[in-house]
Amino acid sequence: MVVAFVVRTSADSCAITCLHCAKRIAVPTIQLWQRHDPTSLACEACGHTFQIIRDARRFPRTPVQLDGTLLEASTRAALASLIITDLSLSGFRFRTPYPHLETGTLYSVVFALNDAARTEIREDIVVRQLHPTHSMGAEFDPPDRYNFDLDFYLKPWVVASRE
Ligand SMILES: [Zn+2]
Repeated sequence: MVVAFVVRTSADSCAITCLHCAKRIAVPTIQLWQRHDPTSLACEACGHTFQIIRDARRFPRTPVQLDGTLLEASTRAALASLIITDLSLSGFRFRTPYPHLETGTLYSVVFALNDAARTEIREDIVVRQLHPTHSMGAEFDPPDRYNFDLDFYLKPWVVASRE
């Protein structure tokens, strides 16, 4: 099966390359929001029809190397830099030189994904595991919130030809 990735080009827009005529098709990001079922898309240039499906090859936890900033939750004051080393929909592992981290305390983070649009993620976190000589574990808070940008990054859509 021939597939192509759906590429995030900005916060509001994605791009798909037609597998038949190679024309680049712009798709508003909102059209992919919480869309889990296979969806048909017709190329506006050649009329070829594709299915948009989730990329089943991606793993729930993804090794990354992303620079970010740790913030005080209530004031949003910057506390320290951090490096995210492993990212999932529910949290991440990270390293930071900040010496005063406490488990169970609410912090905020801001970091940019290394996608084409450099999508910025801003979330509150609770630190769950402290391993000062290694990496630390944090969970996004509240745990049941849904972040479309992270979902798209960790399990992006691909375009599959119907043929
Ligand atoms: Zn086409």
